[in-house]
Amino acid sequence: MIRANENYQKLKASYLFSDIARRVDQFQKENPDIRVIRLGIGDVTRALPPAVVTAFHKGVDDMADDATFRGYGPEQGYAFLREKIAAHDYQARGADISADEIFVSDGAKCDTGNFQELFAKDIKIAIPDPVYPVYLDTNVMAGRTGEFVDGRYKDIVYLDCIKENRFLPQLPETPVDLIYLCFPNNPTGTCASKADLTQWVDYARKNHALILFDAAYESFIRDVSLPRSIYEIDGAGEVAVEFRSFSKTAGFTGTRCGFTVVPKECRVFLNNGETVSLHGLWNRRQSTKFNGVSYPVQKAAEAVYTREGQAQIGELTAGYLENADIIGKTMVDLGFDYVGGDNSPYIWVDGQGRDSWDFFDLLLHKAGVVCTPGGGFGRCGSPYIRISAFNSRENVVDAMMRMKEALK
Ligand SMILES: *Cc1c(COP(=O)(O)O)cnc(C)c1O
Repeated sequence: MIRANENYQKLKASYLFSDIARRVDQFQKENPDIRVIRLGIGDVTRALPPAVVTAFHKGVDDMADDATFRGYGPEQGYAFLREKIAAHDYQARGADISADEIFVSDGAKCDTGNFQELFAKDIKIAIPDPVYPVYLDTNVMAGRTGEFVDGRYKDIVYLDCIKENRFLPQLPETPVDLIYLCFPNNPTGTCASKADLTQWVDYARKNHALILFDAAYESFIRDVSLPRSIYEIDGAGEVAVEFRSFSKTAGFTGTRCGFTVVPKECRVFLNNGETVSLHGLWNRRQSTKFNGVSYPVQKAAEAVYTREGQAQIGELTAGYLENADIIGKTMVDLGFDYVGGDNSPYIWVDGQGRDSWDFFDLLLHKAGVVCTPGGGFGRCGSPYIRISAFNSRENVVDAMMRMKEALK
């Protein structure tokens, strides 16, 4: 008898974004004349930068000629891309990361989801609440959690991110082995300072734990005092893996490219107390289950590191940050408390006692604006909504005018 992985039965029945889509479809059916503005799902709206498009085309042309055609590439990614990443994103910022510690992939969702399979089933895991749902759900699928009771899975250590701690996870009170961190955060838009991250690196070193650091929104950081990589913290190379993506940085959500950094000094422990190289394990995993990112896409990603590419992605992220600023100012005008939006494309708004789905429905029905209910990111998110800056200037301005009309 072919039997199912019972762990999937523990997953909450509906996925956040399909629930939102259902409510928006229903509203649109009942109100066909209202133009709904979507500030919900975290997808970019602006086209790929011209430098990227040119390199992408050139990559396709290379594939069209026997002399320059490429078949299977290295599972870890082409050296031309890994070297640029190491030099620009790490060495230039004083982080000692080399090209052979970088694994190019088709995005950070797969990597943040897949990485947990390198660890024992009975490790203790700490996950911020609220946060990007992939970390939790992939551990549920792998059988690392108990049942779902009162909005939480048994056996997970939740790190509450609430107003009282400025939405920053605090060190756990019980020992944990694996810690997920995401900065700038999705959904709250908050950032960790060097001191905040140092606390986590010190904890991991002392407790033989490992940090999985998701830096998908790193390119939105404008405050020069904030760390862009966890490897800017002393000693992090031994205890941290970092995930990055070209999705939000350079508009690659539909093109698919990201990378994961696994320093060679990073270690995990066997039952007998011996250490093994995490780099070796991830390399084995990737070369067994993954065949690399397409050559034209890696050529396109390489162009992000040219002078034109850097200027163009700087403009892209600046445009979204200006949207975030407009949204933040509107929240102030409306008397809502919020965080985020300054080094992040997300604004996390306190619903003043409303449940997040009620707030969602109110904005949809009164303003025709779609946000994301905070409850979808964890129990602590229930009193909040996330407003995303990923849309055109016109749509953001229009949406804010409508919110002012609806809520004044
Ligand atoms: C968008 C996002 C990702 C990146 O996803 P890709 O698979 O690279 O498109 C990773 N982490 C977080 C927190 C995100 O919001």
